[in-house]
Amino acid sequence: MVRTVEAVRAERAELPAPVGLVPTMGALHEGHLSLLRRARGECRSLIASLFVNPAQFGPGEDFASYPRDEERDARLFAETGVDLLFAPGIEEIYPPGHATTVTVGGAEERPEGLSRPGHFTGVATVVTALLSIVAPDRAYLGEKDAQQLAVVSRLVRDLALPVEVVACPTVRDPDGLALSSRNVYLSREERRQALSLSAGLRAAAAAFAAGVRDAGELRRIVSGCVSSQPLAVLDYVSLADGEMREEIEGEVQGEAVLSVAARVGGTRLIDNVRLRP
Ligand code: AMP
Repeated sequence: MVRTVEAVRAERAELPAPVGLVPTMGALHEGHLSLLRRARGECRSLIASLFVNPAQFGPGEDFASYPRDEERDARLFAETGVDLLFAPGIEEIYPPGHATTVTVGGAEERPEGLSRPGHFTGVATVVTALLSIVAPDRAYLGEKDAQQLAVVSRLVRDLALPVEVVACPTVRDPDGLALSSRNVYLSREERRQALSLSAGLRAAAAAFAAGVRDAGELRRIVSGCVSSQPLAVLDYVSLADGEMREEIEGEVQGEAVLSVAARVGGTRLIDNVRLRP
């Protein structure tokens, strides 16, 4: 494990190409491991980063209490075949006087951005820094965080960063719950009610497969499912184009992303499904 920009650059220079990077905030679960295994299978060298990025948490969000277990994570990274683990301290990424941020136009106006002001600027800034420091050939990101994936893909294209973004499918528990580091916060009953997010998305995807194309109706299937749970407070249901740039009104024409956010008990959860005609 290395903690400094200087050390990771020196070790990365010795690794054979292609080099894959899996950025994480730790508290590893099978979702993270699926990204690591995919990258391990496709790249000659595998680098993972472990950094709980303060800039992507808003005031009142769970930065201080975010689950952290570096020892367990380091063991899992090693077992999955990570060649180099970069676990920087905060001051390595944000040195004194740090004053530069990266904002992807429009991201803060989309539903997840509106709910979490500053979040995607925090994400884009740290991802740009990590890509600059590690200089991977490929970066592996999960579809679980659909708008994050869209934002990073946009930023890589707009700044012509020499990296390929590889999107990896969402890993779920057998009952449908999308794996998330935040699931550890859920009580038994909250977890049961949290299934309404994936169940709602599944029901809407089934309706879409059966020919329903009305955006409002598809959104209502998801919101109805989540709102029927007393412990769940719906934040938004969004049906956007494939790049998540704009909300779809009326008929769904091409590929679309249906996403949902809700608070279950004290825990904010997100999930999404891609609809392909
Ligand atoms: P995080 O540690 O939450 O920042 O996530 C690190 C990476 O793992 C991101 O690219 C996430 O999209 C991805 N990820 C998180 N949960 C899942 C999941 N259930 N399935 C697939 N990828 C995931």
